[in-house]
Amino acid sequence: MAELYHMNRAVTIIGCGVSGLTTALVLQQEGWKVTIFTDQLPENTTSAIAAAIWFPYEVRPQEKANKWSKESYLHYETLSQNPSTGVSMTPLTVIIREEGDAWWTKALPANSIRKATSEEIPAPFELGYRMQVPLIETPLYLPYLLQVFQQGGGLIVNKKIDDINGLLINELAVINCTGLGAADLVGDDSLYPILGQILKADPMDGIEAMSADFTFGAAGEELAYIIPRRDCTVLGGTARKDKYELTPQESVSEGILERCSMLSPLVPHARVQTAVVGLRPGRPEIRLEREGNLIHNYGHGGGGYTVAWGCAYEVRDLLNDLSR
Ligand SMILES: Cc1cc2nc3c(=O)[nH]c(=O)nc-3n(C[C@H](O)[C@H](O)[C@H](O)COP(=O)(O)OP(=O)(O)OC[C@H]3O[C@@H](n4cnc5c(N)ncnc54)[C@H](O)[C@@H]3O)c2cc1C
Repeated sequence: MAELYHMNRAVTIIGCGVSGLTTALVLQQEGWKVTIFTDQLPENTTSAIAAAIWFPYEVRPQEKANKWSKESYLHYETLSQNPSTGVSMTPLTVIIREEGDAWWTKALPANSIRKATSEEIPAPFELGYRMQVPLIETPLYLPYLLQVFQQGGGLIVNKKIDDINGLLINELAVINCTGLGAADLVGDDSLYPILGQILKADPMDGIEAMSADFTFGAAGEELAYIIPRRDCTVLGGTARKDKYELTPQESVSEGILERCSMLSPLVPHARVQTAVVGLRPGRPEIRLEREGNLIHNYGHGGGGYTVAWGCAYEVRDLLNDLSR
């Protein structure tokens, strides 16, 4: 009887980026025995390239993204009490073009956001918000998640899955957290890469997180944001749809420095260490749904960290429905 119970509580996750690991931890805490099958280990995923700061960028649908973002915010706030997680709360200024553009303000607890004063917004920009948000330093946070998962008895199998149907026959439930890999794995044509190039500069005293909530350039594919971490200052960025070129471009780096210099007078003095490119898993909407004994959790665009805990809670609820 005990063995049968155990069998029924085993679940398989595919993918070991932030979505797979966060989902794994939530399910583990519910008593599930979790095995992750993954092509790449966390350090080689898109998740390792993100800075990352809490902000619902390129995540849809808006109403659900707000809910998942808020739930995640609260969880990160708790994690920030333990510095070894790599999570801390940090001030962020977000510049907007027009009142009403900022749909994401609803995702923040009321006492953590206010309109910025004109002194807090770099000219020629005029409008914006000041908020307190989670900063998730990925070189610390991903190893932290991995460690908690493995200490809780979680298993990782370094294996690419080519035939999901073969896996589904043998498992009670499979959770698909494969990011862009879902395009091949489940034939999802609506997934597309959103290429992002960022620069990592030496840490800079006195620089704060800042972001423009609109794009630059004729094609609307240029971003401007600054994210200070302990190991570096991240300067971003770009958002180029359907581009796969993973080699950083010098001209793009120059554009990033130019735009970030509009955000802070300290940026022209930045000592750039390296340029990095990653592919965000873009999709018209995050896919979070159950299909038989397969639960999908992928397509988190530019906000995989921002929504990770909220999405994982929803996977847990779908799994509980399935196993009832
Ligand atoms: C430059 C840049 C900056 C970003 N900044 C932020 C930020 O500040 N805040 C934020 O919230 N988000 C940010 N993001 C977005 C965030 O990184 C992504 O949304 C998130 O990493 C997606 O995580 P994931 O786990 O779904 O996918 P991934 O990290 O891509 O992980 C997918 C996993 O699935 C595995 N896999 C795929 N196919 C298979 C298969 N067939 N078999 C087995 N395993 C498979 C992979 O090996 C990998 O382990 C940024 C992204 C980029 C590129």
